[in-house]
Amino acid sequence: MSFDHWIHERMENRKRAGLYRELRTMNTAPLPHMLVNEKEQLVFSSNNYLGLANHPVLMEEAVRALREFGVGSSGSRLTTGNTEWHEKLEDKIASFKKTEAALLFSSGYLANVGVLSSLPQKGDVILSDQLNHASIIDGCRLSKADTVIYEHVDMKHLEKQLQETQAYARRFIVTDGVFSMDGTIAPLDEISKLASKYNAYVIVDDAHATGVLGECGRGTSEFFGVFPDVVIGTLSKAIGVEGGFVAGSKLLVDFLVNHARTFIFQTAIPPASCAAAYASLDIIESSKELRERLFQKIQQIKNRLKEVGFLVYGDDTPIIPVIIGDAEKAVSFSNRLQEEGIYAPAIRPPTVPNGESRIRLTVTAAHTESHIEQLLRSCTQIGRELRMIS
Ligand SMILES: *Cc1c(COP(=O)(O)O)cnc(C)c1O
Repeated sequence: MSFDHWIHERMENRKRAGLYRELRTMNTAPLPHMLVNEKEQLVFSSNNYLGLANHPVLMEEAVRALREFGVGSSGSRLTTGNTEWHEKLEDKIASFKKTEAALLFSSGYLANVGVLSSLPQKGDVILSDQLNHASIIDGCRLSKADTVIYEHVDMKHLEKQLQETQAYARRFIVTDGVFSMDGTIAPLDEISKLASKYNAYVIVDDAHATGVLGECGRGTSEFFGVFPDVVIGTLSKAIGVEGGFVAGSKLLVDFLVNHARTFIFQTAIPPASCAAAYASLDIIESSKELRERLFQKIQQIKNRLKEVGFLVYGDDTPIIPVIIGDAEKAVSFSNRLQEEGIYAPAIRPPTVPNGESRIRLTVTAAHTESHIEQLLRSCTQIGRELRMIS
């Protein structure tokens, strides 16, 4: 079989399974209205939760750093890529997360892979929530430690697994702070209690919670008033830029500089991105208003969808999964939304369990009252058309 023929066959299998993925082109700044494949759409699927990705101050700061330092960082942090901007941003992240220190990675993905492949060792076990992000799963695969999966946010099951893994040298509990597909918040208070009781360590991936949850937006730790051993995060969601980080003790950071291969062998993010992220954290720290606006919209959308009869999963986070059930119906729903000028993707198995296909809405502080009215009107109309609600 020729090389092309072989790839073609694999792709056909994928299409038959309904798993084919395609890129869409967004020819506009990340605003609520974007040109999606040349058609104007009101977007309810962005991770730009606070609407900061095109904030003038962030752009100004990035341009200033760019003029001074150029577009690329020229090397890994340990060779020629480390600038004062990287260090300033790490201090800023540490103070924002209330930890001793922080370390930048090129992405949240690489931060997860770097931590999980270096920290747990052979003879250790990682206890991982069933719905953890793909980058945690990949980190576990690269680790020499064993991995045990516990049922999604099921503390009884986690405790049972902790009891059954006492023969291991060390136990690491790893969880998303806010789960990407279900919008659930991990019960970090209970996880921390179990961790102390069974002498385990806690690693939290706060990608969706950073800038969003807690009184000052510091994330899940602040929301529950707990201090995990390792906090991982991204600068690409509410922060609005790019890059990932780990926040924790100075010792942990030194360890990762020496052991995390995704830190050591990766080119540093550009100083301009650091400058933008720094400005973003300044804004997040100095104002509650964006977060308050965001949560008011989250509650408005969830309440109204439930009122008209939709099944909506999750806790109060910007991720709002509207359960449709059947995979084809979810696709029809999403296509109908697009016809109405609203972009929100259908999420199907195997990303979510059979029978739980959904429309995954995300809301941002940049959505206006009239955007939300348009969304709710269209959802109600389509829900009636598809005989999901009366
Ligand atoms: C988005 C996300 C990541 C990856 O972050 P990037 O900076 O985009 O690589 C990791 N974990 C979770 C839970 C995420 O949602």
